[in-house]
Amino acid sequence: MRVLEVFDSLQGEGLWAGAPMTFVRLAGCNAPLEGLACVRWCDTPQSWDPESGREVEVEELAGQLGMPRVCLTGGEPLLQAEESVLFSRLLAKHGIALHLETNGTVALPAGVSFAWVTVSPKPPSYAVDSSFRARIDELKLIVDGEFDAEIGERLEREFPQAAISIQPEDGGGEDTVHSAVDMVLSHPHWRLSLQLHKLLGLP
Ligand code: SF4
Repeated sequence: MRVLEVFDSLQGEGLWAGAPMTFVRLAGCNAPLEGLACVRWCDTPQSWDPESGREVEVEELAGQLGMPRVCLTGGEPLLQAEESVLFSRLLAKHGIALHLETNGTVALPAGVSFAWVTVSPKPPSYAVDSSFRARIDELKLIVDGEFDAEIGERLEREFPQAAISIQPEDGGGEDTVHSAVDMVLSHPHWRLSLQLHKLLGLP
């Protein structure tokens, strides 16, 4: 598995904000090739190169993790589908809950076992692969210049079982924060997500 970094921190985003987790950030992202507009505001461009980081034995990594929850993130972690399946099965054996953070463009591989699936669809299409219909817990929607509440409502109809987290773009300014707050106030079952780790100066 090609891994960019492994570190312990607090989950900063979404419904699990504040929970301690080990973050496993995989190398490689398909957003630049797919023309996704999140490349404008991505806060982990160092993860795009599939050759970045180092090659790690999945079994070895799975045996070294100490936190009860692990967040598999990227880049786009499902680009390493086979490794993700193996990693999820090994963590399940160790009694560790594996969370996934994905942009939703790559199909969920068969046989993978996640305790929590967060999909963050990206502009301009906000497309999510149909395989997530069977397995999605949270939609994390970033309020940038392109996102509006109608997009959130459409995704909510498509994935009615998913909780909705509305998160202002990092560096988007006060207008973005106010837009996000207004959207949550007018959709009381949605939740505001702030990047807690950044507010606290954590990795
Ligand atoms: S999908 Fe995620 S990691 Fe890739 S460019 Fe977009 S925000 Fe960055």
